[in-house]
Amino acid sequence: MRPQSLTPLFAQVTSLPGIGPRLGKLVEKLAGPQVVDLLWHLPFGVVDRRNAPQVAEAQAGDIATLTVTVDRHIVPRTPRQPYRIWCSDETGEVCLTYFNAREDFLKKLLPPGEVRVISGRIDLYQGEAQMTHPDHVVPLEQRGSILRVEPMYGLTAGLTQRPLQKAIAAAMERAPDLGEWQDPAFVIRQRWASWKTALALVHNPTDPADLAPTSPARARLAFDELLASQLAIALVRHHNRTIVGHPTRGDGRLRSVALASLRFELTSSQRTAVQEIEADMAKAERMVRLLQGDVGSGKTVVALLAMLITAEAGAQAALMAPTELLARQHHATIAPLAAAAGVRLALLTGRDSQKQKRETLQGLADGSIPLVVGTHALVQEDVEFKDLALAVVDEQHRFGVHQRMALSSKGRAVDLLVMTATPIPRTLMLATYGDLDVSKLTEKPAGRQPIDTRTIPLERLADVVEAIGRQVATGGRLYWVCPLIEESEEVDLANVEERFHQLSARFPGKVGLLHGRLKGAEREATMAAFTDGRLAILVATTVIEVGVDVPAATVMVIEHAERFGLAQLHQLRGRVGRGAAKSTCLLLYAQPLGETAKARLAIMRETEDGFRIAEEDLRLRGAGELLGTRQSGLPIMRLADLIAHADLLQAARDDARLVVERDPGLQSERGAALRALLYLFRRDDAVRTLRAG
Ligand code: ADP
Ligand code: MG
Repeated sequence: MRPQSLTPLFAQVTSLPGIGPRLGKLVEKLAGPQVVDLLWHLPFGVVDRRNAPQVAEAQAGDIATLTVTVDRHIVPRTPRQPYRIWCSDETGEVCLTYFNAREDFLKKLLPPGEVRVISGRIDLYQGEAQMTHPDHVVPLEQRGSILRVEPMYGLTAGLTQRPLQKAIAAAMERAPDLGEWQDPAFVIRQRWASWKTALALVHNPTDPADLAPTSPARARLAFDELLASQLAIALVRHHNRTIVGHPTRGDGRLRSVALASLRFELTSSQRTAVQEIEADMAKAERMVRLLQGDVGSGKTVVALLAMLITAEAGAQAALMAPTELLARQHHATIAPLAAAAGVRLALLTGRDSQKQKRETLQGLADGSIPLVVGTHALVQEDVEFKDLALAVVDEQHRFGVHQRMALSSKGRAVDLLVMTATPIPRTLMLATYGDLDVSKLTEKPAGRQPIDTRTIPLERLADVVEAIGRQVATGGRLYWVCPLIEESEEVDLANVEERFHQLSARFPGKVGLLHGRLKGAEREATMAAFTDGRLAILVATTVIEVGVDVPAATVMVIEHAERFGLAQLHQLRGRVGRGAAKSTCLLLYAQPLGETAKARLAIMRETEDGFRIAEEDLRLRGAGELLGTRQSGLPIMRLADLIAHADLLQAARDDARLVVERDPGLQSERGAALRALLYLFRRDDAVRTLRAG
């Protein structure tokens, strides 16, 4: 149960004074549905209104708070002219200027003869002091309502600063005093204020320096958030360890047959990965291991060998892929090897016939099918396993945490192997999984050649098409990727289609088109024609980013490469260089290039190392954008910045580990405060494991 003291923070934002249904919707869109979300909406700027000169002393460009008498209104003759109101103090005159303002409104706001306090930016108009649309106009007795230093918040269309500031101030009123959840010695060493004081400081900056992520108050809040997430991860892991898994031990007989039928040797990092997985699976506690390997590093074989261990042990394994295409491809790779080993392997996707599906479900339920590859169709309710011992999840960042869990829950203490082709930088990894066990495939399979990567301005498109002509003439195969440019799918489609028609005109009958709108069967037919060489050029959107495996393709052309993120460019490039022949990647860009785009393209030319590229990507883009955070299942940090607070992340990890070691049930006094912290950051799931365990 969430502590009573937190209840006011988890009320709807509309429960705050002044927030009705209309504002409520806007605030929800901006920050979130509950009061606590407003606390986490931090200011990005400050406006200092402490400068209160006499009119004659007011400097152009300054923000000034003036106390003036309203002298006269100059009502414009046409609506296009500004409305001017002259005001003064004993030192001089200032002209307030409004565009498109209503006379009755202004007469009420600034009645002639009365004194008003106004605040805004001073500029000069024909040598006179002027203020255009003052930010604040109040009667003298309400002077106090103008904040001396005003926090500026990010807004959304229809919402202005003032109501948002008020809503956040009201939310702050609801913030309770909470017991200190940080290690007291650490807080003292950092010279940090308490949670509530830090929150107040962050929302009442007095100086631009207060806005820096490293300011003590912001750092404290970031650390709170990081600690909550690290503690949640550590608790869930601790809990998982206490559930007794089944040790899965194979005798190697199926694996040796499968290995013998491979037309290649495993690389040494593949062998190591298999050994690590084998050792994990043999333990009673659950495996949670990440198999990280660059595109083309050969993760699928490793997954298959892990799956065969379960078959040797008489149990079942499932491999879940994020797309239909990828599931089919994995199935195609694995099927001959499984067949060689004499193990039944099924494919389960949303497109199976009723009859096929019934057979598969039956075989999984009675255990006669030991291995299955599929899409998220695998986690549907009607899918039951006799004894699921291993779940392999490919390209995990495309699945939510929820789906991953759903597959694991189809068995008892299922071992989990997560494969990712997008190397996740260490910081993000730590933030997401804590200390997850990781196997890395660091070498490319033998015989691969480096990819020759070049950047070419789009003006030279004709030359590129010529060069491609030579490739096509000699039987080469290549990808041509068009980006998603516009918001609208229609326009994007028009772009790929236009390129398809142009290239088709030049290379009749040799060009195929692939995009997300095509029906599955159509896509497969095109892929098949490209795979067996009937088509030489595949014009595609980024649908080919993941999984497509045609070793004979040796050229990758990426149009408007400047619009792609690094991770995506790297994924796309990884579609070539898979065979023994030399491959080329042409990055076509539109001029002029921005700084970030320039840096990205330079890194692409410089390295093929996915781990390095992932680190650079994080540095260039920031953690939030990486991997398209929202669908990613990665935690969305509101207060912590994984780059600025990288050292705090380490400290939070260490602290969380220590807490779980000493007080796994969070029973101590600090433990109770830490429970509140978990609830505060909505890690209720982690608190639940305390009771269950
Ligand atoms: P990933 O999923 O890591 O991108 P895949 O598992 O799809 O890579 O493997 C890419 C290609 O490399 C496949 O055609 C696969 O058969 C091949 N392959 C895998 N391991 C090796 C190896 N050790 N030597 C040669 N080729 C390999
Ligand atoms: Mg793969």
